[in-house]
Amino acid sequence: DIALARTWVQAIAAAMDKHKDLLTQLDSAIGDADHGANMHRGFSAVAAELPRFEAKTAGGILARTGALLISVVGGASGPLYGTAFRSLGKALDAPRADPATFAEALAEGLDGVRRLGAAAEGDKTMIDAYAPALAAFRTSAASGGDLAEASAAAADAAEQGMRATVPMQARKGRASYLGARSVGHQDPGATSTALIFRALADTAAA
Ligand code: ADP
Ligand code: MG
Ligand code: MG
Repeated sequence: DIALARTWVQAIAAAMDKHKDLLTQLDSAIGDADHGANMHRGFSAVAAELPRFEAKTAGGILARTGALLISVVGGASGPLYGTAFRSLGKALDAPRADPATFAEALAEGLDGVRRLGAAAEGDKTMIDAYAPALAAFRTSAASGGDLAEASAAAADAAEQGMRATVPMQARKGRASYLGARSVGHQDPGATSTALIFRALADTAAA
């Protein structure tokens, strides 16, 4: 519901604040060392504007979040996360969503990222955390898991997917310019995606 959406977005902002240096370190190895700053800038702006988001549904909050990310975050991750949150939000237009509905909304978010970034699983991007997280969320929801259970399964799968990016060679984004030298490093965007799903799990459990 709308209160949970607000709390989730705030929890993401807190996680990006806490892990800004980690994200920047990861991006300095295979990118341009701005992923921590990008995510921090984006979600700080969202947290600051959140009280003024006059949304009537959870989806409204998430769609506003996406629009703001697009407008304040440069680089690849701004438009990609912005699109993910806008698509997720647009798919949640009722006051409350059950876990199966939320799973389908998460799928809309992933489709948005895929359409915009044209990356597939295995390309060493945020998709490598998002896709397994969605699959785990769906499986849990389909077997009767509540939001807390499905989100915890999704967060675990996202973290596993994040770690699985280490041996991959990047085929999209700046890291792909490094070719084989991108192997052996964890993808920054997969790491921020894992933080976003962990924030959801923590919010749903509270
Ligand atoms: P930039 O690379 O423009 O500096 P960021 O550092 O904020 O942007 O974000 C980099 C992250 O964006 C990468 O670690 C990767 O996960 C993600 N990314 C880059 N290109 C794509 C793409 N085409 N599709 C999905 N994710 C991508
Ligand atoms: Mg970067
Ligand atoms: Mg950049």
